[in-house]
Amino acid sequence: HFQRVGFIGLGNMGSRMANNLIKSGYTIVVYDVNDDAMKRFSEKGVLTMASPREVAEESNAVITMLPSPSHVMDVYTGQNGLLTTCRSSNRPRLFIDSSTVDPQTSRKLSAAVSGLKGCEMVDAPVSGGVVSAEAASLTFMVGGPEGAFDAARALLMSMGKDVVYCGGPGNGSTAKICNNLAMAVSMLGVSEAFALGQSLGIPAGTLTKIFNSSSARCWSSDTYNPVPGVMNGVPSSRNYEGGFASRLMVKDLRLAADAAAEVGATIPLTSLADKIFTSLCDEGHATKDFSAVFRHYFNGDDE
Ligand code: NAD
Repeated sequence: HFQRVGFIGLGNMGSRMANNLIKSGYTIVVYDVNDDAMKRFSEKGVLTMASPREVAEESNAVITMLPSPSHVMDVYTGQNGLLTTCRSSNRPRLFIDSSTVDPQTSRKLSAAVSGLKGCEMVDAPVSGGVVSAEAASLTFMVGGPEGAFDAARALLMSMGKDVVYCGGPGNGSTAKICNNLAMAVSMLGVSEAFALGQSLGIPAGTLTKIFNSSSARCWSSDTYNPVPGVMNGVPSSRNYEGGFASRLMVKDLRLAADAAAEVGATIPLTSLADKIFTSLCDEGHATKDFSAVFRHYFNGDDE
């Protein structure tokens, strides 16, 4: 059991995950470059640190939940990064990166961590979105040494409901980018179909009921519906705020494209999805939830 858990990256996902660690009885110490994000935790009595290095020195295990590979590399290997802690007695035993990054970045970091005596790392990206992050019902896809997976399990179970071992370092990240490729395409398919249905005169609520008991049913139709007013508690019901930013979806599609290029895989739908979500970002919706693609791209409603 870890006495002190460090948490770095207190954004849409990380803040909710860190709260669930507190609820499960863990003592956490946190760091984020955004002062407001830190303030929300210091106001609750959580110890805030001035750098990743300080977090490492105060924790037995560290979890990172950052936007993209460059941020993760910076937090691990930059000046005052997690791996710059020199006294080995002060180093965390376990590093968990839950950010969505490419498998190569995960493997590079895993190799760097396993070079440090007594330290292990897992890549453990998540699926489920802010709703599951809040409810501690995320799915974790874990890559790394089996011993590190066993060590991470209880911590991850306090933030999720499924923890799946995917194999060696980088395999969690591979699972995640494949998941998001499929999710991007299914969100586009559902949005296009709902927009067409509405144009032809069928209300979105009716079409949702039909989809959800028919062969088009998927997460984008039954859990994260993109049409405002169809479901409560999802980003489409709050002007597409506070979900999975469109710019992060573009990032993930490019991670998939890079990984595909390495192995020569054909990914025509990934390329088209990248184009559509990139234009959504260029039109000023980069920080809105990616389901905003329904309103702004297919429904032609640009406020
Ligand atoms: P976010 O942008 O809301 O949060 C990221 C946080 O990291 C911010 O608070 C930011 O200030 C902080 N940060 C950035 N650089 C930093 C640095 N160098 N040091 C410390 N803190 C730093 O992003 P999010 O939506 O919480 O997503 C985080 C990760 O989880 C991404 O990789 C994303 O792809 C993935 N993810 C997101 C969702 C979702 O629904 N939002 C779902 C699954 C996976």
